[in-house]
Amino acid sequence: MGDFVRAKDWSETPLGPLFGWPQSLRSAISICLGSRFPIVIYWGAEFVVLYNDAYAQILGSKHPQALGKRCRDVWAEIWDVIEPMLQSVVATGQATWSDNQLLVLKRHGFPEECYFSFSFSPVRSEDDRVGGVFTAVIEHTQRIVGERRLVALRDLGSRSMEAKTAEEACVIAAKTLCEHAKDIPFALLYLINGNEQLARLAGAAGVALDDAISPLVLRFSPGTADGQPWPLIEVVHSDAMQVVEDLACRFGNAVPPGPWSDPPRQAVVLPIRSNISRELAGILVAGVSARLELDELYRSFYELVASQIATAIANASAHEAEHKRAEALAEIDRAKTAFFSNVSHEFRTPLTLMLGPLEDALASSALPSGERDRLTVAHRNSLRLLKLVNTLLDFSRIEAGRVQAVYEPTDLAAATAEFASMFRSAVEKAGLSLVVDCPPLPEPAFIDRQMWEQIVLNLLSNALKFTFQGEIEVRLRFTAGHFELSVRDTGTGISAQELPKVFERFHRVAGAHGRTHDGTGIGLALVQELVKLHGGSVSVESEHGRGSLFKVALPMGCSHLPAEQMGAKRTLPSTALGAPHFVEEALGWLPEAGQVDERGIEHIAARQSQNAAPAERAHILLADDNADMRDYVRRLLASRYEVEVVADGEAALSAIARRKPDLVLSDIMMPRLDGMELVSRLRADPQTNTLPIILLSARAGEESRVEGMQAGADDYLIKPFSARELLARVEAHVKIARLRRDAEQALRDEQERWELAAHVGRFGQWHLDLVTRAVDLSASCKAIFGLPPEEQASAERLFSLIHADDREAVAIRLTEAVETRTAYEVEYRVVWPDGSLHWINSRGSATYAPDGTALQMVGVTLDITERKRGEEHLRMLVAELDHRVKNVLATVSAVMSRTQEAAGSVADFVAAPDGRIQSMATTHQLLSSHLG
Ligand code: ADP
Repeated sequence: MGDFVRAKDWSETPLGPLFGWPQSLRSAISICLGSRFPIVIYWGAEFVVLYNDAYAQILGSKHPQALGKRCRDVWAEIWDVIEPMLQSVVATGQATWSDNQLLVLKRHGFPEECYFSFSFSPVRSEDDRVGGVFTAVIEHTQRIVGERRLVALRDLGSRSMEAKTAEEACVIAAKTLCEHAKDIPFALLYLINGNEQLARLAGAAGVALDDAISPLVLRFSPGTADGQPWPLIEVVHSDAMQVVEDLACRFGNAVPPGPWSDPPRQAVVLPIRSNISRELAGILVAGVSARLELDELYRSFYELVASQIATAIANASAHEAEHKRAEALAEIDRAKTAFFSNVSHEFRTPLTLMLGPLEDALASSALPSGERDRLTVAHRNSLRLLKLVNTLLDFSRIEAGRVQAVYEPTDLAAATAEFASMFRSAVEKAGLSLVVDCPPLPEPAFIDRQMWEQIVLNLLSNALKFTFQGEIEVRLRFTAGHFELSVRDTGTGISAQELPKVFERFHRVAGAHGRTHDGTGIGLALVQELVKLHGGSVSVESEHGRGSLFKVALPMGCSHLPAEQMGAKRTLPSTALGAPHFVEEALGWLPEAGQVDERGIEHIAARQSQNAAPAERAHILLADDNADMRDYVRRLLASRYEVEVVADGEAALSAIARRKPDLVLSDIMMPRLDGMELVSRLRADPQTNTLPIILLSARAGEESRVEGMQAGADDYLIKPFSARELLARVEAHVKIARLRRDAEQALRDEQERWELAAHVGRFGQWHLDLVTRAVDLSASCKAIFGLPPEEQASAERLFSLIHADDREAVAIRLTEAVETRTAYEVEYRVVWPDGSLHWINSRGSATYAPDGTALQMVGVTLDITERKRGEEHLRMLVAELDHRVKNVLATVSAVMSRTQEAAGSVADFVAAPDGRIQSMATTHQLLSSHLG
């Protein structure tokens, strides 16, 4: 800049030529030019402009013409602001200070929003007057605009969290943008509906709705590009920001002015991305401030605004979806409650009509005892059904808020002890002791007596159901303003992970070991609801295998209860069945005295049937945890079959181990070991894998049937079943089992005969799998190889038994036979494991797959050791004879030649050898007989 100042012809300026400048100006200029801080000097009455390199940046396009010009000409657009300041410095000799001062400069061809901090300081001239003004300037435009944008983004982020729907998110975002008009003079937020290929205006800032610039709907279906105010299609397709120039030309006066006197000239259109890839949630149209340059920083600010809005929309949509899901669930829940309520109601009528006549019939003294037994079972089970239905009804009434408790001051200790002691007989019959510890309490409790009865009885019956030894304790105390009931048992307990769920309705602990599998999982949920109606709470502590402790706490007094229900009349008839029914149901879980042994096995002496001889009576094992069901099915079957009855899967397994039945009839839901598990255990055991099993289940539906059959059951009967159906199925399966058994026996007999024949004929059968090389030998074949019958010999083992000298020949012959599809026959020696040598003849023939692969070879093996020994003997004999005949012939020929030499006449020649030959014949005879 120094060169620049020196090179300029100053004679044309109000300062005159350089050499005439006063020292004060020279000094000021030298400081200015030597500084890297933006500094400008306004000198003389005309405030002639002199500046350094750093200040040239602030001048923008005004540099270099500004040098030496009058300030009023250089800064015409702000002269009205700075002139008074300059004049005051000259007049008073006092410096001014301006901090973050907004000055709208036209340094880049348009009025620009700029911020500066500066100080005008006097520079004294030689005559001690103010000769000029020295100005140090800092520009803050970027910092101030940047901070402002950060605030806008922060506001967008924080406020939009409140939105519950996408539309609401747009409205909140638009409202926030309204407060940041200097950066976003106007904004339009459109939400895209991809199905309809359009975008709907969901929020607007700084602009009226449904104007030329802000139509309510924008379309982006093909062919709609023309006539659209904003380039929606381009944004959707490019998924990138588009800049729209010259708004005045597009929209005329409709362009909103924003915070400045001149309206925006440009706008940007940006995609608002959704959380589904390649789908847009919406479009943001935003005006570009007329006082700011659309530079990189401004563009990325818009991108950030769009992504903040996208996050807000995504959050709101997720919230909306969640809300809808919760609503739908609540609706289903309401529907379920209504359904239970209706269904339970509908059940009650037919049940009442069943119970009435049954009770009438049972009241008659003329009833034969067999009939009475049958009707008693029907009555007991109808009551059980009624209890289930009532529990459901009570529960749905409570859920629907339709139940009205009637609270009365009650001696809680007496009432609790009374309800508990009704269970005494059942508890003691189960071999447990019942401890009732309910000392008198200092004051009465406000309770609904029937509800309290339900609470106590439900907890007690659960305790009995899940306790097999030890005791059940019912305890009542008054502590810290509360009545506390505890029902403690020494039963099977509840595992830690199940504990939090036991009060949920319909929750049952899978595989829980109880006296029965009967139950709906509603008892504890009902207890909890009933306790809540008393303003109390219920809790449980339990340890698996050690027992459980259920605690109910009720607040004292009645201030927590609705006054209008204090001693009021009931508006709904009570459905509670009371203690006798609970007790009766519990008694049904206990084995009948004398009928069940200590292992839970009930054995009913078979009654002779007229049409079946005792030897033919099939033996059926029935497993069911419900005593009435056991009784009923046993009664149905007893006339034709010998029936053994057990209460669960474990007992069934032990009964089967003692005596294998002809057929198993098993319930599915049973404590300890259920029917499915029983089936798989029986199928896994070779002793019982063909035992016919029929499953009985109350779980109707095709899947349950398929599940049962897949587990390996032979049949599946759904409760309720008719007596005829049960009998027919049992009979069919017993028959099939008999036929199967007979067939298996026949096969075994056949096998035995074959084995016998093989043994006698000393041949054995073998089978070689040519793919896996597995061998299967009959017992007689193993014997031929000197192997014990139980040994599972492998091909390698057999090969190792072949005499080392014969192995190769055997292998070659086998390969040859397979390859040439000829019969395999070979004789070889084997060395038995005891070291003795045996001869074997093996023959076989291969079978092939259609593609020519050799599959297997089946054959027989003969022990030919005897024959081989005979052959060897013969061979030795022949050799011996041959040897001896040759010897004899040699001797004879020697004798003859000697005789010939010695004989004088023919007669001599004839007579002489006779004696010799005679003696030789005698010798030979002797030898032969010896060899014989
Ligand atoms: P239900 O008895 O009809 O199955 P509940 O709601 O009364 O239904 O009980 C839910 C589950 O809690 C039972 O299935 C059982 O597994 C468990 N439970 C309840 N009481 C006891 C108890 N005293 N001991 C062990 N388990 C229990």
